[in-house]
Order: sequence, then C-alpha cells, then structure tokens
Amino acid sequence: MPAIPEIAAKPEYADLQTWARVFAAREILPLAEKIDREDEYPFQLQKKMGEYGLLGITLPKEYGGLGLDMVGASIVGEEISKASLSAGFLMGVQNGLAGSAIALFGSEEQKAKYIPRLVKGEIIGAYGLTEPGAGSDAAAISTKAVREGSSYVVNGSKMFITQGAVADLLVLFARTGPSGSGAAGITTLLVEKGDAGFRVGQKLEVMGARGTGTAELLFENCRVGQERVVGHEGDGFLIALGILGRSRIGAASAAVGVGEAALEASLAYAAKRSIFDRPLGKFEAIRFMLADMATRLSAAKLLTFHAATVHDRGDDFMKEASMAKYFASEAAVWAAERAIQIHGGYGVSKLLPVERYLRDAKILDIVEGTSEVQRWILSKELLGD
Ligand SMILES: Cc1cc2nc3c(=O)[nH]c(=O)nc-3n(C[C@H](O)[C@H](O)[C@H](O)COP(=O)(O)OP(=O)(O)OC[C@H]3O[C@@H](n4cnc5c(N)ncnc54)[C@H](O)[C@@H]3O)c2cc1C
Repeated sequence: MPAIPEIAAKPEYADLQTWARVFAAREILPLAEKIDREDEYPFQLQKKMGEYGLLGITLPKEYGGLGLDMVGASIVGEEISKASLSAGFLMGVQNGLAGSAIALFGSEEQKAKYIPRLVKGEIIGAYGLTEPGAGSDAAAISTKAVREGSSYVVNGSKMFITQGAVADLLVLFARTGPSGSGAAGITTLLVEKGDAGFRVGQKLEVMGARGTGTAELLFENCRVGQERVVGHEGDGFLIALGILGRSRIGAASAAVGVGEAALEASLAYAAKRSIFDRPLGKFEAIRFMLADMATRLSAAKLLTFHAATVHDRGDDFMKEASMAKYFASEAAVWAAERAIQIHGGYGVSKLLPVERYLRDAKILDIVEGTSEVQRWILSKELLGD
C-alpha cells in the first residue's frame, strides 16, 4: 500500500487514510465498474458519502463539515479516486467547488442555508463556469445577468458541468458588466433547481469520470434575487480563480489515486501472469515500466502534498497547485497507458478496470484547467509578464 510521504507523516493523517480506504473498499469499489459502464448518476452512493462525511471534508465544522486542511483532503481524495474517479468527482464538486465557493465567499445566510445540506448530500451542488464558447479563457464568458430592480435576469448557457444534470444548486458565473468587460464584469450567483427559466440541456457523454451527470445548462430569462449574489457584483472572476486554485490540488490528488490504481493492478498482474515459462515481472522491460510508473507517481504525490502544505500554511500556492495538477494528471495518463501495455490484450479489454484508468486519467488532464493552461500560468509567473 502506498505510504503517506514524510511531509504529511502524522498519526491523524494515517487514521484519515484508513478511514477513507475503508469506505472506498466497502462502498465504492464494488460499484466502480457499474458506474462507468452504465453512466448513471449513483444517487445511493452520493447519499452514503454524505452520511460518512465525505461531501464536506474541507467545509467548516460549524456547518457540519469535517474542516480538514488541504493535506488531509488530499489524502482522502487520493483514496476515493483510486477506487473510482467518478466518486472522487462527486466529492470534489460538492465540497471543493460548490461548497467551498459558498464557504469562502458567501454570506452568513447563504452558508447557513446551503452548506449543511451540501455536506449531508441532501442537495447536489454544481459549479458553472465553462460555456460552449469559453473554457480555458474563462474571462470571456458571455452568459449575461442583467440587473432589474432587486434581481438579475440570466440568459445564456453553460457546458460540461459536472453534476449539472442532477444539480439542486448551481454556483453560476455570469457577466453583469458590459460585453468585453473581461474578468472585471463577472459575478457569482446561486441558482436553484426549479427557478423559472433554468433547465438542463444536453446530457453529455464523456470518456471518463462517467456517471457524474455532466451536462449543458440553459438559462432563458431566469430571474435570481439579489440575495443570491456570492460576494459582491464584479467579484466573480476572483472567486472562480480562488476556488480553481484549491481544486487543482484536489485534481492532482485524484490523479495520484488513479495512477496508483494502475500501478497496483500492474504489480499484481506482473506477479500472477506467466509467459515463456516465467512470471511477467521477471522480464526487464516490464520491471522498468513498473519502476518508471512508481517514480513518476511518487514525484506527483510529493508535488501534490507540497502544494497542499503551502496552501495550509497560508502562503500563495497557485504556482505549486498548477505544477502539481499538470504533472500528476500527465503522470496518471502515462502510468495508465503503461498499465495497459503490461496487461496486453486484457489491458485493452473491458474484462479488467485498467482501460478505465486511462479514460479517467485523461479527464484529469482537461478539467480544472488543461495542462496547457497550467503551463501558461507557470510560464507567466516565471517570466513575470
Ligand atoms: C468531464 C468534464 C467535467 C467538467 N466539469 C466542469 C464543471 O463542473 N464546471 C465547469 O465550469 N467546467 C467543467 N468542465 C470544463 C473544463 O474545465 C473545460 O473543458 C476545460 O477548462 C477546457 O476548456 P475547453 O473545453 O473549452 O477547451 P478550450 O479552452 O477550447 O481549449 C482547447 C485546447 O487549447 C488549449 N489551450 C488553451 N489555452 C491555451 C494556451 N494559452 N496555450 C496553448 N494552448 C492552450 C487547451 O489546452 C486545449 O488543448 C468539465 C469538463 C469535462 C471534460
């Protein structure tokens, strides 16, 4: 079993790892293949995750969350995503995106109204930033929220929204400034299921993290009261960046989990499978692949825990989060691809979960800002431009 790196070697973290591992083995692993195959949202699992505390791991204790720091959350995220990235997404979106946006930037009324229910899984949250015409360039979103008296009238659409198809509560980013106002003209609003003019558009089938209700969301003269603004008008882009920075550490820990699942499957297979009268693990080419997988995943894990540690001590962690996110997601894709090679024909078949690890890992290379976007952020920081 992979150890917690020295950087986070405290007894309470070891307990946390065991706590998450027990739930993953008992409740998630038996469902992982079915969730992937059927691509149906696992409502029962989501409820159980809420009862266990997994949907509010970093959310404030006063609202029912576990109040973990980012190192603790990374340990839990890795274990959950190792069993199923889809379960990792349920946790990450509820806690790290929707819940954290309200916890960090919302009013006391908003926190009291929504966080306890998000934590218990009584309501499902989503985070709507991406649009059909604006993903990496999030400051270019065009969904409009026009002020009319004490409310905003929202028109536009959102794309690829995890849990969007089943969401009760959406943290929405919309343009309240004039077209072309860029980052300064964006505001965060809370939209509830049942608000007139808000509906789910296409349900989107994606290659990995399946069963997480990815959907397009549509707004046609959807009226949202002023009390549903998170923070202040015009703060939206800063809120989006603040939340995404943290959730990149979550994506990195999920990638480490998926990569480790691929490595563990490969180690077991190398010991069990015999070819040419020898176990697979006796062939140097296979052994070196395993060594490379373990090395890249260890590096990914150290970068992830480093980013989490920088976050937890209150320093600027955006650079470390970008490094961890892109390195870990690419390491997971690479490790999963090697795992398929080691498994031969079984690796590309649906008989084993190995091909799912590659599909899941690839999703992590795209969400929360692609690898190119992370490199862009890092290069800007390095060059100071
Ligand atoms: C399964 C899934 C779940 C998702 N969940 C959510 C969610 O819950 N909420 C949400 O708001 N969004 C969500 N997204 C959207 C996701 O964040 C975007 O898909 C992602 O940010 C990329 O945006 P895009 O798809 O528009 O690609 P584009 O921005 O069009 O990028 C196209 C290509 O250009 C590259 N590129 C971008 N910028 C640069 C650059 N500066 N230099 C060089 N190349 C560059 C990209 O890396 C990519 O290869 C989800 C996506 C998926 C697939």
